Amino acid sequence: MREFPLPSSTRVLTVANQKGGVGKTTTTVNLAAALAKQGARVLVIDLDPQGNASTALGVEHRGDQPSVYDALVHDEPMVEVVQQSPEFDTLFCVPATIHLAGAEIELVPLVAREQRLRGSLDRYLAESDAAGSGYHYVFIDCPPSLGLLTINAFVAAREVLIPIQCEYYALEGLSQLLNNITLIERHLNPTLAVSTILLTMYDGRTRLAYQVAEDVRSHFPEQTLSAVIPRSVRISEAPSYGQTVISFDPQSPGSISYLEAAAEIAERGVQRGH
Ligand code: ADP
Ligand code: MG
Repeated sequence: MREFPLPSSTRVLTVANQKGGVGKTTTTVNLAAALAKQGARVLVIDLDPQGNASTALGVEHRGDQPSVYDALVHDEPMVEVVQQSPEFDTLFCVPATIHLAGAEIELVPLVAREQRLRGSLDRYLAESDAAGSGYHYVFIDCPPSLGLLTINAFVAAREVLIPIQCEYYALEGLSQLLNNITLIERHLNPTLAVSTILLTMYDGRTRLAYQVAEDVRSHFPEQTLSAVIPRSVRISEAPSYGQTVISFDPQSPGSISYLEAAAEIAERGVQRGH
């Protein structure tokens, strides 16, 4: 396994696509685990009320557990709600509980409702840096919608990572997502950019998957990673063991492809001066 270069300051990536089931959560937890395995300090913020990222990282997220909801809505410091994943010493998670389902509405009357996550995360990152335990990467796992939670994720991040499922409707909805990102960039977060596109659930036996991949690459030659995530039963089984495929089955093609994608993200980031 090749060494991954570490960024000189924290990279914050939002994993977004308003379609459900395209591999956002799977991509978030496996890239985070791959980078942590290679020695990076990584934080995953679970911003989906379903809490799938928390489950996959083996982190408690029952209703009574302190969670991202408390940080967003009640100004609870993020340090109070973060948990270490049992998977790697350098992998941490801010879990989501079912309370987050109400946050889309509870956030509406709050001051700076689009900046809540950014404020909370920036304070926590500054404290962690000062304590000598700064993070190299933060990944934010978004719900399948373009509501206030996703807007908070776009405002908190510098980079957007879009997973695209290699199927027929893959590109449908993408222009809406890109328009929303442009609006956020114009009005709320001028430093936001789509840095990375990852093709997921690739089935090499079908001509369709190949065509979708070619199509995405021709539209986004700079952003699309060379690594492609295959459709793999091991990837989909891992969460039921509270694990990522990186530790559940390290030698499987799914694990190796996520490690390759993580290496590319690390290397491209350093080339771009992160
Ligand atoms: P999203 O977060 O976008 O809704 P998920 O990451 O939860 O999508 O993935 C949707 C479903 O597809 C899950 O059951 C997941 O286990 C499965 N899945 C994701 N990636 C793969 C893959 N590469 N191969 C097989 N199944 C996958
Ligand atoms: Mg998800």
